[in-house]
Amino acid sequence: MPTPEEIESLRQLDRDHLLHPNVVLGEFEDTGGTIIVSGEGATVRDIDGREYIDAIGALWLANIGYGRPELAAVAAAQMRQLPFWSLFYGWSNAPAIRLAAEMARIAPEAFNHAFFTSGGSEANETSIKFARLYHVRRGHPNKQIVIGLARAYHGVSYGAMTATGLERVREGYAPLVGAFEHIAGAYCYRCPFGKTYPECQLFCADEIERTIERLGPENVAAFIAEPVQGVGGVITPPDGYFEKVRAICDRHDVLWISDEVICGFGRTGKLFGIENWTVRPDLISCAKGITSGYLPLGASLVSDKVYLALKGDGHQTLNHGFTYSGHPVAAAVALENIRILLREGLPARAAEMGDAMRAQISALGNPYIGEVRGKGLLIGVELVRDRSSREPADVAMAVELACRRSGVILRALGGNIISISPPLVITEAQAARVVAVLDQAVRAECGSAGEAAAQ
Ligand code: PLP
Repeated sequence: MPTPEEIESLRQLDRDHLLHPNVVLGEFEDTGGTIIVSGEGATVRDIDGREYIDAIGALWLANIGYGRPELAAVAAAQMRQLPFWSLFYGWSNAPAIRLAAEMARIAPEAFNHAFFTSGGSEANETSIKFARLYHVRRGHPNKQIVIGLARAYHGVSYGAMTATGLERVREGYAPLVGAFEHIAGAYCYRCPFGKTYPECQLFCADEIERTIERLGPENVAAFIAEPVQGVGGVITPPDGYFEKVRAICDRHDVLWISDEVICGFGRTGKLFGIENWTVRPDLISCAKGITSGYLPLGASLVSDKVYLALKGDGHQTLNHGFTYSGHPVAAAVALENIRILLREGLPARAAEMGDAMRAQISALGNPYIGEVRGKGLLIGVELVRDRSSREPADVAMAVELACRRSGVILRALGGNIISISPPLVITEAQAARVVAVLDQAVRAECGSAGEAAAQ
């Protein structure tokens, strides 16, 4: 255990030297952060010894939970044998080969090739580049535009950031990349088109076709979407949405990229999020749950249709690659992570636990909870002042902090949405505690916000 002096010194060094993503820098210099030092199953412990239920899977990714010695063992063994060798220019390494073969085995049918990256942004960069190259190789170099959804999050590198539909992510970084277009998505609770499902007949999906026609199909390369939008608010398209996407993309020779960075590897109750619908995309970007966060890794999974175009006439080079594409230690860890996910049936467990948690939250009768949504253990809770008017209750951050004080880590998204995405091994007792703490915090924060507004 570190001494109080050592802890204070570490906190000071954090404030003085470490740049953190998404913090108000001036505030952080004063307050510092919470330093997490260990984890076991679905719980983590901070440097002061406080234990929390991690109901966000760190950052949507701790799918198999913390403290798995098998992953440490394979990482150590691989580091001893060969810490790194690249895949460039025909070189290869055994863990990357085995992982690519495993991805071909477990991914949807006809996804037989994998390109590895270090994370989700790079996976999306790769998928977007491959989509454009697909059209170039097939003689349609003008098919460049990528259509994405409002509220989508695809990462922070330039292409992935430009594809992202959240203004705050892009602010201050202009000029962005050319040839990206955003349209409204399937947000049924607050339909951007003012319609109601199913009478709407998926007007939102038809918006993709209207947009392709407006831009000219000869200019459109791809449509990119998360199966369930994570950062944008756990926004869950209804049945039929992606079936329409598939048909529209096929009609206009537009590729469909499924961003499974959050949804992949069991989170939504299926191994891949898109398996909650009946159709399949052309490219799949994944990361996070591929290693449950034990090491950084991502991938762009390539369908046979795209692979054949990339191969071209058989004499063309694939000019794309990161130093760490197919890092052998990360690949070995991913293989062991996937073995555990499958051996323990964690996707099915996520489906069961997710349904149970959604039912428990709905049964609370909490007047400030307007909607509970999501798939598997990817859960969104939208807070409202009043269920009939659906006026947003912008207290999500206060709820997050109150839950944290009670030993439960949840995440505020925007002003009025709480996300829950725990390790898929969360126990029933832990899940019940998360629901109870959330209920209490929402009642307290919405109640006091209501009183303050009334004064
Ligand atoms: N795509 C989605 C859906 C994400 O949620 C994220 C990160 O949260 C990314 C892409 C970017 O991944 P990374 O942060 O690993 O670059």
